[in-house]
Amino acid sequence: MTPRFFLRFAREVAPLPLAKFAWNFGFKGVLAVNRFKRDLARGVTIPAFPFISVTNRCNLKCRGCWVSQSSPPLDMPPELLDKTIVSFNSVGSYFFGLLGGEPLLYPHLVEIIARHPKSYFQVFTNGIFLSDEIAREMRRLGNVTALVSVEGLEDESARRRGNKDVFAKTMQGIENCRRNRIPIGCASSVCKSNFNELLSEDYIDAAIRRGVHYLWYYIYRPSGENPCPEEALDREQILLMRKFIVEQRLKKAVAIVDAYWDDEGRAICPAATGISHHVNPRGEIEPCPVIQFACDKLETDSDVLGVFEKSDYLRHFRGFAANCGRGCVYLENPRRLQEFSVSEKASPSSGRIGQMEELPSMPAMPGHDLGADSIPEKSILYRFAKKNWFFGFGAYG
Ligand code: SF4
Repeated sequence: MTPRFFLRFAREVAPLPLAKFAWNFGFKGVLAVNRFKRDLARGVTIPAFPFISVTNRCNLKCRGCWVSQSSPPLDMPPELLDKTIVSFNSVGSYFFGLLGGEPLLYPHLVEIIARHPKSYFQVFTNGIFLSDEIAREMRRLGNVTALVSVEGLEDESARRRGNKDVFAKTMQGIENCRRNRIPIGCASSVCKSNFNELLSEDYIDAAIRRGVHYLWYYIYRPSGENPCPEEALDREQILLMRKFIVEQRLKKAVAIVDAYWDDEGRAICPAATGISHHVNPRGEIEPCPVIQFACDKLETDSDVLGVFEKSDYLRHFRGFAANCGRGCVYLENPRRLQEFSVSEKASPSSGRIGQMEELPSMPAMPGHDLGADSIPEKSILYRFAKKNWFFGFGAYG
């Protein structure tokens, strides 16, 4: 993220979305982390940045996706979503990641975003339904960014997502956002087969040319009905990925997001710190989207914050995950995770038949803890941001 990025962002994003991004996301986001830190100091953990899956509807069936579609589909009741947003607002959290399935298939999405103008929403979408009309609506509301998943270029996208037209349609969705001047992100879950094409300067440069403002790189986490664990990265690749991210942050006019490492390059699990947890369309609270076990459920008459605050399961999970190490307990310790979930009497929350057999049969895979090979941030800006707003929050002692 270079000075050129800020100029680009200010020039390319329309005034209202720009102002809402700066205020609702930027300024209030800082306050939300400060509130989170204050609460932690008095022994209370209420996520600063909740992630909510609003539906399990989807038009694709991607490899490795944790979501199980159902018939009839499952949508979060809008009253519950409203109540959850308002409850988090009451403690100063205004940022919500909205996931699916495909959230643009959730029938109430636009009205919910419109009903909460003081909040900021990041919509995780495959981009196919990002029509000109939807993008125009997003611009009119201002308090929303589209985070479009790109799982590879044409061929790899077709292989991973099961449909040869996906890449072109996704790019059209990005183009609609660019034309309507809203903040655009691209999220990629990096696996063996898309590693070279997504972790490349060509990919970043092409994204910038298409008007993308931020790139979010994830490590592929095999899950769901078609997990494909053979696609998981090895340690060497994770190290290369970290190196690539740190270096590109110094060079490119785009923001590069990761949710894995602090300013010193030490590994962090957002669920172990409690900065973020996930609510599924049924209202069940999971440690994170891929860990589909829950003890607590939000209902429309729930004391939402009380459920988070009093959850023994989430508290125990945070201690358990941090004890397992700084990396990803899901990848590195699937069997221990299963044992822990059973010992907590947590219920499988994916809706998949056979979910109880999944973790025990999954091989242990490398996570993002690079130990002695940790690579500190080189960009002063990222170093500062991570040091203040994204660190271990005391989870690792
Ligand atoms: S357990 Fe793994 S996938 Fe879940 S939040 Fe932690 S690092 Fe991410």
